[in-house]
Amino acid sequence: MAFKKKFSRRKFCRFCADSDIPLDYKHPEVLRDFITERGKIIARRITGTCAKHQRELTTEIKRARQMALLFYTAAHSSDVKKKSQL
Ligand SMILES: [Zn+2]
Repeated sequence: MAFKKKFSRRKFCRFCADSDIPLDYKHPEVLRDFITERGKIIARRITGTCAKHQRELTTEIKRARQMALLFYTAAHSSDVKKKSQL
């Protein structure tokens, strides 16, 4: 699977490793790395994110969804919509 490949080598918490990475709903491009194409939040055991940051990440992803910066389900994703219209 695509998202598994991205996180395959040596797991580490990206937010601990690089404190410059913004972790808030105003940066959906960062959050998008931690959800699947279908909009599901990827489990900590796969991404390697530490408990503290995963907790924050979850909150921020949910916030971003409410602000319509991220989608709830694939049916709301513009990418998927485009594909199904073809
Ligand atoms: Zn961390």
